[in-house]
Amino acid sequence: MGEVVRGLGTYYLQTYGCQMNEYDSELICWMLEQLHYAPTDQPESADIAIFNTCCIRDNADQKVYGRLGDFKRFKKDNPKQVLAVAGCLAQKDGEEFLRRFSQVDVVVGTHNLVELPDLVQRVQRGEGRFVRVERVGDSFSLLANPRNQHSAMVTISMGCDQWCTFCIVPYVRGRLKSRPLEQVVSEVKRVVREGRREVMLLGQNVNDYGRDLDPKRDFGDLIRGLKGAPGLDRLRFMSPHPAYFTQSVIDALADNPATCEGIHLPVQSGDDAVLDRMRRKYKASEFVDLVARMRAAMPDLALSTDVIVGFPGETEEQFQNTLDLVRQVRFKSAFMFAYSPRPGTPGNLFTDQVPEEVKMERLYRLIDLQNEISVEDNRQLEGTTLEIMVDGPSKKDPGRLTGRGRCGRLAHFACDQELTGRLARVRISKAFVWGFQGELEAAESRAGEWALVPSQPTIPVIA
Ligand code: SF4
Repeated sequence: MGEVVRGLGTYYLQTYGCQMNEYDSELICWMLEQLHYAPTDQPESADIAIFNTCCIRDNADQKVYGRLGDFKRFKKDNPKQVLAVAGCLAQKDGEEFLRRFSQVDVVVGTHNLVELPDLVQRVQRGEGRFVRVERVGDSFSLLANPRNQHSAMVTISMGCDQWCTFCIVPYVRGRLKSRPLEQVVSEVKRVVREGRREVMLLGQNVNDYGRDLDPKRDFGDLIRGLKGAPGLDRLRFMSPHPAYFTQSVIDALADNPATCEGIHLPVQSGDDAVLDRMRRKYKASEFVDLVARMRAAMPDLALSTDVIVGFPGETEEQFQNTLDLVRQVRFKSAFMFAYSPRPGTPGNLFTDQVPEEVKMERLYRLIDLQNEISVEDNRQLEGTTLEIMVDGPSKKDPGRLTGRGRCGRLAHFACDQELTGRLARVRISKAFVWGFQGELEAAESRAGEWALVPSQPTIPVIA
């Protein structure tokens, strides 16, 4: 992090959890920077410290509670520091944070994020400690990840009506609440006018969009509404549910040239009985059929997925069905988890929990299979050229740039030019499980024209 310019003071932000939380953190940063607070990576001396929490991922709550202990010490030396807890865990535990942790000053739930700066300043004025977890208001009206210059995340809905038995989201984020279609379309057009060329539409169950609007809309209507938006090169979305990919949605996606071929399609299990117990509302064969229909409409589709192994009651045979589905569908990549019961969800109450060592053994077998598939499929692309949107220098090696293809695969390549936010054509020289190493062939100029680049030396990447 560069030199801190002092305005009103400094803030330190720690984010736990998923993409939605990353997005909320962007909003928190932006709101505080509007008030002239500067970011710092020194938690002990920050004027404001914020934990943006998650209660979905494994042990995230324990990590937060543990970290709060450090801040009790920091506050002894820096008593004016305001400590705020935001996000899902704040939504779930609310007042309890203030009761259990005397060092916490502000608790804001997922629906009250916009109140955070005001509450922090009220604490600074000595007006007390505050909890806001009411399900009123939303963050829809705020800018999408305002600090990224080339890619924007736009929230289209919040909450979820699915009640999958392993998931805490509906309990902490509430029921589905969609943002009006016209508002989404106009925000996307605005961020694109401002120079962002890639947009990620966000929602907990993103393709269940619009069912609660009057008149009713669906995700396909929104994708059609965004078709032809000038300057929108890449359209992505997170996280969909297979049951809401109707044929109309598939057709709309296929018909919009900006739709990226990298689509996330969480399957969770390949066994009907397990899917039923997870309350996923589709059968394995319906999922496979959906994939076939999507591939027919979008031939370059590159699917990623989520899989949970060791859900309560899962037998070896049922796990084999998951392996069979993974072999059949050949996902480009997968987020693979051993089931971890979340307090407050029905899954936590199932009495036939799978022993930890069995879950881990199954998880490793699944990871081995998926890695084999990923690298085999990635190798097919060696020698071809991929169009990459450059995200910037690689964190591990500043002499190398990194970016993603429309398929969502990562590519690293040596380059001494500043190409962040531009498109680059990269010849794939070596495939790995995670993506590619390549050489820059051509890069887009600021005026949007392509220029060939003299061949660059290949720097080997350690996988
Ligand atoms: S659809 Fe997604 S967010 Fe909704 S309950 Fe299921 S897993 Fe959770």
